[in-house]
Amino acid sequence: MSNEPDKLIKMENNPVRLLFNLTETAADSLKRAIIDGVVIADDDKIEQRINLCYGCSAFDKEQARCKLCGCVMKLKVRFDAAKCPAGKW
Ligand code: SF4
Repeated sequence: MSNEPDKLIKMENNPVRLLFNLTETAADSLKRAIIDGVVIADDDKIEQRINLCYGCSAFDKEQARCKLCGCVMKLKVRFDAAKCPAGKW
């Protein structure tokens, strides 16, 4: 499956995939906290990420969720170790 937003399959209704994505983000955040002591992204990074999401075709503005990973982006962008599934940030 391609991770290109234009070719996406809506993942937000797939609970197994959503659980996998949340677990991956939590594990990355824990690893980053242990290694660097950094958990929360700085304000500039949070703003840059959310602006990219708002301009992305995979962003569901009504639910503020990414259609690729199913995550609530107002939360996910705050975790420094979080990653965009399309590689945009
Ligand atoms: S996380 Fe990436 S793919 Fe998802 S809405 Fe944001 S920029 Fe688009």
